Amino acid sequence: MQLMLCGGTGCHATGSKPFQEALNAELINRGLADEIKVVETGCNGFCAVGPVMLVQPEGIFYQKLSVDDVPELVEEHFLKGRPVPRLFFKEHMSKEKIPHIDDIPFFSNQVYRAMKNKGAIDPEVIDEYIAREGYFGSAKALNEMKSEEIIEEMLSSGLRGRGGAGFPTGLKWKFAHSSIGDEKYVLCNADEGDPGAFMDRSILESDPHVVLEGMTIAAKAIGATKGYIYCRTEYQLAIRRLEIAIAQAKEYGLLGDDILGSGFNFDIEIYQGAGAFVCGEETALMRSIEGKRGMPRPRPPFPAQKGLWDKPTILNNVETFANVPQIILKGGEWYASVGTEKSKGTKVFALSGDVNNIGLVEVPMGLPIRTLVYDIGGGIPKKRKFKAVQLGGPSGGCVPEQHLDTPIDYEEIAKVGAIMGSGGAIVMDDRTCMVDMARFFMDFIQEESCGKCTPCREGTRRILEILERICEGKGEESDLKSLEELSEVASNSALCGLGQTAANPVLSTMRFFMDEYKAHIFEKR
Ligand code: SF4
Repeated sequence: MQLMLCGGTGCHATGSKPFQEALNAELINRGLADEIKVVETGCNGFCAVGPVMLVQPEGIFYQKLSVDDVPELVEEHFLKGRPVPRLFFKEHMSKEKIPHIDDIPFFSNQVYRAMKNKGAIDPEVIDEYIAREGYFGSAKALNEMKSEEIIEEMLSSGLRGRGGAGFPTGLKWKFAHSSIGDEKYVLCNADEGDPGAFMDRSILESDPHVVLEGMTIAAKAIGATKGYIYCRTEYQLAIRRLEIAIAQAKEYGLLGDDILGSGFNFDIEIYQGAGAFVCGEETALMRSIEGKRGMPRPRPPFPAQKGLWDKPTILNNVETFANVPQIILKGGEWYASVGTEKSKGTKVFALSGDVNNIGLVEVPMGLPIRTLVYDIGGGIPKKRKFKAVQLGGPSGGCVPEQHLDTPIDYEEIAKVGAIMGSGGAIVMDDRTCMVDMARFFMDFIQEESCGKCTPCREGTRRILEILERICEGKGEESDLKSLEELSEVASNSALCGLGQTAANPVLSTMRFFMDEYKAHIFEKR
C-alpha cells in the first residue's frame, strides 16, 4: 500500500509535515512500516481541503488531515481495513459506498496531460518519474528523430503557448530552428507574477523532471546547448526540487554532455528572478538573465532571431514544456484529439476566490466555464450568487453570469472580453464591487509598470487615480469617457504587453458592470 501525501506548498501550509511525521512514527510503532509506504508527492491540486492524502491502490481520498487523526487512521484503516468516513470528502462522508477519488467531481471532470504525474510520484525521486514513461520522449527525440520531425510533431499537436499569448509552439520553434547562430538558447518562464496564479509553481513542485525533459526536446529541435529556467525567487520549494531534478538527470546521463549516448549536449541552469512582474515579458526576462535591468525592448527583432545575448532563443512557460514529452512520445495527433478546432489539448487553471474547491485543475479545452466553476469548483460558498470570474489575471477580463457557457478556447474567451492568460481564474460572488476589482488590478499594474514608455507609465497612473476617485464616491460623469480614452491610448501605443493589456479589467468591467460605475458616480456610493 502507498500513501500519497500531498507535499505541495498549500498542504505544507495546512500542516502536512507534522502529519507525515506522526504517520510515519505510528506506522513504525504498529509494525506496518514495511508494508505501507508514505510518499510525499507534489501538489495534488485540491488545495482547499488540505492536507490531503490518497491511499493507493484503493483510490481512497482523505482530506483535512491532522496529527490527531493518525491513531484512528492507522488502527481502523491500515490495521483493520475499515476506512474512516469522517475524513472523506464532505459529500461522501455519509454514503455507504466507500468513495474512490474519481467519484469526486473536482477530479472526475479533469483530463491530465501537463499534470499527469501530479500527486502520483515523489518529485525528488527520478526513478518514479522514469517509471511513468519519464524521459521516454527525450530518448525518442534525441535518438530517433531529426529536428524537423520534432517540430512537425509539435505543429501537428496544435499546442499553443500556455504563458498567455497562445502563439503556436511548433511555429516558434521552427523560426528559431531556421535562425543562424553559433549558440542558441531555450528558456523556461517560471516567473508567474499574476495575482492568484500558482500553476507553474505547482507543476514544478510536483513534476520538475517533465520540464527538464520538455526543454531538452526543444533544445534538440532548435539546436540549442544551453537552457535557463527563470523562476521567481519566492518559489523556494520549486527551486529546491528543480535543483535535485537537475542533479539527478545529470547523474543518469539525461542532461549534460552526450545525453543517452546520442552525441547531443544540453545543460540547464536555474536563474532566480527578483519578482518584477514585467520580467515575465520575454525580452525583459532575457535582459534580466543578462544581468541588466529587466525592461522590454521593441520587437522585431524577435527572440527567435535575436534573443538572449542576441542569439536565437525560444521562451516557453512551464505548462507548455510540461506538455511536450507526451506529444513526442504519443504523437501530435494524439494530443490534438482533445480540445476545440483552434485550441487543442488541455489547460491548467489556478481556481481561487469565492469558490468552494480552490485548487489547481487541468481541463480539456472546450469545457464550458460553468463546469469549471460549478462542477469542478463546487460553486459559490454559502450558496451566494455568482457574479463573475476573472480570467487572465491583471491583463485579462471578467466573464459575467450571462457568458458562463463560453467554452474554454482562446478565441471564444477573447470574444467576451477576457483572455485565457496563463490560467488564473478568480471567482467573485455578488458581494464584489467590480469597480474596486478593476482598481485592485490597476493598482497592481501601475506598481509593476517598468516606466520605460509614457502611455503605460503615465496612463496607468491616471487610470488608477480615476478609479480611486470613483471608488471614493468622488467620480464625475466625464471620468467614464476619460477611462475609455486612456485605455485606448495605452492599448494602442504602449511598448509591451503589460501596458497594452493594462486596461483590460477596466474595459471588461465597464462593458458588463457599467451600472456599478454609475452607482458610484451618480449615487455617490
Ligand atoms: Fe514598461 Fe509598461 Fe512600457 Fe511595458 S508598456 S515597456 S511595462 S512602461
